[in-house]
Amino acid sequence: MEIWHVIRAGDKYIFNFKDLRPWFDEWYDRNVEEQELDSEIARELAFPCWVFDHAVGFAHVTKWLVYNFPGHITERNPIGPKYRHIHLAPPDFVGLVNQARGRLKTVLRGPLWEKVGSLLSEPHTCSCWQKTSAEYLAALVKCKVYPLEESFPKNSVTQIFNRLEGFGHTSAAKDCKPCNVNWPECVSSACKIARGYFDGLCLDCMDHSKPKRADEDEDYWTHDFKPSARWDQNCRISHGEPTWYHSWLGRDDRRQKLLKERHKAL
Ligand SMILES: [Zn+2]
Ligand SMILES: [Zn+2]
Repeated sequence: MEIWHVIRAGDKYIFNFKDLRPWFDEWYDRNVEEQELDSEIARELAFPCWVFDHAVGFAHVTKWLVYNFPGHITERNPIGPKYRHIHLAPPDFVGLVNQARGRLKTVLRGPLWEKVGSLLSEPHTCSCWQKTSAEYLAALVKCKVYPLEESFPKNSVTQIFNRLEGFGHTSAAKDCKPCNVNWPECVSSACKIARGYFDGLCLDCMDHSKPKRADEDEDYWTHDFKPSARWDQNCRISHGEPTWYHSWLGRDDRRQKLLKERHKAL
C-alpha cells in the first residue's frame, strides 16, 4: 500500500504529518470511501489513519475489524517495522479492538441466555421446561453458534450474526406460559443489540484519556467532561458509550469513576 511508503519517507526525512493531513484526507476519500474493506486492507489502514489523525477513517476501519475479522485481530505492516525518528508506535489499538471484540461475545450472550436461563434456574411445575430449554439450546448448537467459546475464536462476529439469521426454532409448548418463549425474538434482539454496540475506536477519546505526563494526577480531562452530556461530546465522530469505554487509554480507576458519574447524571 503506497501510503505506508509515504509514512516511511516521512519518518526518514522527518515530515510534519500534520501538514500532510489534507493530502491524506483526499487520498482516503479517493481510495477508501467507496471501497469494500477486507481483512488485509483494513489491517493495513488502521495505522495510516492513526498517523494522519483521520478520525472517521480510524473509527470505520477499527469497527470493520471488530465485526468482520475472523478471530483474534492482528496488525498488518506491509513494509516492515523499522522506523528511524518518530515515535510511530501507535497506542495499542490492536489490544483495544480485541477487547471490544471479546466484549461483543458477552453482549450477545446476555439476551441469548436470559430467557432460557430463567427457565433453567427457576422452579417450574410444568412437565415441559426441560424439553423446551433443551430444544432451544440444541437449536443454537445446530446453527453452530453455541457454545460461543468455540464459535467466537474462529469466526467473525458478522459470521455469527449470519448463522443466527438461520435460527428457525419456535417453541412447541404453546399452552405452557413459562415455556412459551418467543425464541426467535431472543435471537434477533441479541443480534440487534450486538450490531449497534460498537462504533469503532475514537481517536479523540483516545487522545483525551491518555496520560499526558508522568506526574499528572489531577483529573485533567474531567474538567472538560460534563457528566450529563453526550459520550461523544468532544469528538469528531459520533458514538455511544461502548466506543468511549473501549477507546480509553488512561487509568482504569479513572474510567470507572467517570462512568459512575455519568450514569448517575444521565
Ligand atoms: Zn412448560
Ligand atoms: Zn470520542
